[in-house]
Amino acid sequence: MAEGKDLSQFQRVVIDQDLCISCGACVAVCPWQALELDENAKARLIWEKCYDDFSCVAACPVKCIYKVSEAPEDAKKKPNWYRLGRQLSPDEQKILQSWKAKYGIQVDPLPPS
Ligand code: SF4
Ligand code: SF4
Repeated sequence: MAEGKDLSQFQRVVIDQDLCISCGACVAVCPWQALELDENAKARLIWEKCYDDFSCVAACPVKCIYKVSEAPEDAKKKPNWYRLGRQLSPDEQKILQSWKAKYGIQVDPLPPS
């Protein structure tokens, strides 16, 4: 089951929303419902739901989803491309901060909506 997975083991994805054409292919292919189209119809990651199978990276027709380890620095710096799906526990918050530091992500996630 998804619950109980160790959130510290995943690198996740970065989405360059400026390039996204709102096709929804990534949302449809994600096995963990970790992607959505936001209020501007741009793909957005739900941080704690992503478990690194990278089907979305392969499915995107304009190649604007990247493994975090391969993401362009300018894409990482843009706002709005990821949010939390729920309030995180203190331990999960630490994992989030470690992930941001490890991958050079400076923007914070949007709060749960
Ligand atoms: S890497 Fe996999 S789990 Fe993560 S958002 Fe993409 S398709 Fe979903
Ligand atoms: S597959 Fe790519 S272009 Fe289509 S919605 Fe997802 S990120 Fe945007």
